[in-house]
Amino acid sequence: MNISIHPAVDNGFQPATPGFSGGTLLCDCADDKVEVTINSQTAHNHVCGCSKCWKPAGALFSQVAVVSKDAVSVTANEQKLKVVDPTATIQRYACSGCGVHMYGRIENQNHPFYGLDFVHTERSSQSGWAAPEFAAFVSSIIETGTPPDQMGAIRGRLNDLGLPPYDCLSPPLMDAIATHVAKSR
Ligand SMILES: [Zn+2]
Ligand SMILES: [Zn+2]
Repeated sequence: MNISIHPAVDNGFQPATPGFSGGTLLCDCADDKVEVTINSQTAHNHVCGCSKCWKPAGALFSQVAVVSKDAVSVTANEQKLKVVDPTATIQRYACSGCGVHMYGRIENQNHPFYGLDFVHTERSSQSGWAAPEFAAFVSSIIETGTPPDQMGAIRGRLNDLGLPPYDCLSPPLMDAIATHVAKSR
């Protein structure tokens, strides 16, 4: 079976470039592209199987990383951005022209990940970004139509790529969330 996880990982991927300090993300519109500038390396890059993250056509997973929101700014055509779902924990700003999500922001100051924005560095033409480290919310791809009997092969492919599959977030991120909850009690 030929499994396409995501174009950025299907043929392997490069490690981060030491000292890399960011770049620009562009939407998919032919003209008047939305541009987001990131003045930092990203962290916790991973592929995600949830139904909310933006995925390129044909991909089973999104590819998403986090970065301090202070390092993120919209530098062209901000008027084209709309929040996909104002009730969601992550406010995902999508281009109303092409549908690409340009960044996601958490406004709840009590959320464990408050202060971090979610970005798709595949939208950047620069190389050197942090490499993907794991696969999150793998079982969730069943919700968007993947037959359950393909899951063994998909998890096997993720392991082959060096992206250990988890059905929520990775253990270090789950520990970070639980630590936040413990401290807030
Ligand atoms: Zn666009
Ligand atoms: Zn996701």
